[in-house]
Amino acid sequence: MKKAIYPGSFDPVTYGHLDIIKRAAAIFDEVTVSVLYNVKKSSLFSVDERVKMLKEATKDLPNVKVDSFSGLLIDYAKSKDVHCVIRGLRAITDFEYELQVSQTNHLLSHGDLDTVFFTTDLQYSYLSSSSVKEIAYFQGDVSPCVPDFVADALEAKYAEQDRK
Ligand code: ADP
Repeated sequence: MKKAIYPGSFDPVTYGHLDIIKRAAAIFDEVTVSVLYNVKKSSLFSVDERVKMLKEATKDLPNVKVDSFSGLLIDYAKSKDVHCVIRGLRAITDFEYELQVSQTNHLLSHGDLDTVFFTTDLQYSYLSSSSVKEIAYFQGDVSPCVPDFVADALEAKYAEQDRK
């Protein structure tokens, strides 16, 4: 069985992420989308909220699971007996960082963990969780970027925070 992990912040999940998830799910037998609990990065949504949104967004994809993890990706992958990581590439700026992370994971895992890159669909190449949050903060239209329930969650979050 070919299994893969798609790790990330997903703060929140966008159509760019969902496109990568669908394409990966068509190639791998099982894809686990896993939200990284990253103490060094402040997030708008809690890990639980992000997991919940990913579950809703992938509910029609039977071979996609949603999970969360903290610590090193190589340790998490080993605990799940997975040897392949999925990441998305939007532009050359993603490439430099992703290349470094992928090579480090390959080295640290003694060749046990490889990364497969999916290049973004052109229509989503501009899309990032950060830009979606900025648009939502200023009450712009995020409907081309995220599912409706994510747009609602963004609006509720910023309203709750009084747009601070
Ligand atoms: P990170 O994991 O770096 O904190 P994200 O959670 O935003 O960032 O993204 C997870 C993965 O999805 C990364 O590999 C990122 O490059 C990729 N990704 C994000 N947005 C898009 C997009 N619009 N098209 C393709 N890949 C994307």
